[in-house]
Formats: sequence, C-alpha cells, structure tokens
Amino acid sequence: MHPLLERLAVPLVDAAAAAFLCILGATVGSFLNVVAHRGPRGESVVAGGSRCPACGSPVRWHDNVPVLGWLVLRGRCRDCRAPISPRYPLVEAAGFLIGAVAAVELLSGGGTLPAGRFDAGRTGIDVLLAHADWRFLLACAGHALLLVLLLAWSLAEADRVRVPAWCLAAAAGALAGIGCAAGGPTVEPGRAAGATAAVILGAAVPNRWLRQALVLAGVAFGWQPLVTTVAVMPVAAVVRGMVAGGAGGPSCRDLLLAAAVQVLAWRWLDAVWAR
Ligand SMILES: [Zn+2]
Repeated sequence: MHPLLERLAVPLVDAAAAAFLCILGATVGSFLNVVAHRGPRGESVVAGGSRCPACGSPVRWHDNVPVLGWLVLRGRCRDCRAPISPRYPLVEAAGFLIGAVAAVELLSGGGTLPAGRFDAGRTGIDVLLAHADWRFLLACAGHALLLVLLLAWSLAEADRVRVPAWCLAAAAGALAGIGCAAGGPTVEPGRAAGATAAVILGAAVPNRWLRQALVLAGVAFGWQPLVTTVAVMPVAAVVRGMVAGGAGGPSCRDLLLAAAVQVLAWRWLDAVWAR
C-alpha cells in the first residue's frame, strides 16, 4: 500500500464509522417521528409509506431523507405546499447528534468514561474490531439506547401522550439488562440505587414524562451519575431556551441534553465524586 494511503486508512475508516452512526441516529429519529405521528392514531408504524398529512399524497423517497428532505422542500409538501412542521427535521437532527455522541464514546475507546473502567489507551474502530471488548461495546449501546429513549419520551411529552406502563417497564428492563451485561456484578448496586434515587428525585416533579425519564436515566447510569446529570439540567435548559426557544418547567428535552453531556464528560464529572 502507498505510505500516504496507509496513514490515511485508519482515520478514513474511523470517519466512515462515525458517519454511519450519525446516519443511523438520524434514521432512528425519523422512525420516532413516524411512531409519534401514527402511534396515538392506532396506525401501523411499519406498514405503508409516509404520506403528507394535509393532502395524503405519498412522500417520495428522496424527500424522505432525514433533515435534507425538509431543507430541500423548504418545509413544504411538494404536492400541496402545506407547511411541514420543523419538528420533523429537529427530531432527526437530534437523532444524528445521538449518533455523534455514540461515535465519540466508541472511537475514544472509553476515554470519556470514568478512568479505569475500560482501557482508554486503545482508540479507533480497527482496534475495537481487533480486540473487541464486549462489555465496552454493550456499555456504549446502553448509553445510546438511553438517549434514544429520552428522545422518545420528549416527543410523548411534547404531544402530551401518555406512555403505557409496559413501555416504561420494557425500556427500563432493556437498559438494566444491557447495563448488567456490560457492568458486571460490582456495578449493580449502583444501578438499583440509581433507580431508587430517580424515584426519590422524581417525587418532587409534577411532569409525569420527566418522572419516568428520570427512572430510565437512573437505571442506565446509577445514582451518582444521575445526580450530576440532574445538576446539569438547569444549564441544559438555558442552552435549549437560547437555541430552540420555549420556556416552562424542566422537561425531558433538558434531561436528554444533560444525559448527552454526562456521557461525553463522564470522566470529568466523575472527579466530583472522587474528591
Ligand atoms: Zn401535501
């Protein structure tokens, strides 16, 4: 192989892996849009292509590309010119950013996680593939799943749609299962304590969606990271207010933002507890 190509190969593969995760995230965001739109109406979320809610004409595949489709159409239906809510591309963009958070965590080899938890000396996708540490991959998957679930809860909160209890149980169960497999027995008391802390913190929260979302974060993170995440929430609310506008009490969107900060800055936030 040409020496230059050899030197570029690893960063190129890393960039491709990161792009893949971002596009996957945007696609998950797009799917959540479909669930949020059709779920409360009792329609199938898998059968049938997307249609314009105003004129019913099918959305062409190239107009359905996350974020870009909306931008190309300038937020209007191609057929009837009815406005399409900017919420759709915003949710897809949030999914894209969740993919980016997962890429940073994964490609840094756990460098954002507490020191000593995983071997942070090894970075890049080629190393991950050559020395696959399944506990680390599961930990990353669990964090990404939490962020996706918090996005889903944010949508339910915005629409004031009650989430059935079995959905919460299934989500918490999945997070606990992945977390147990990734963490090993020593982390589990922290996880149970996280769920308990979430219930205690949530008792003061009038917003039912945020109460449930706190339980998910508690199960996924354990109690100490949950407390730092909740401490970051007011800052997240200010940033969210500046970017997207909208006031009101603490919301699932703030928790989503704070949880993303927790995943990206875990190592440094963990130092608070080490003192
Ligand atoms: Zn239309």
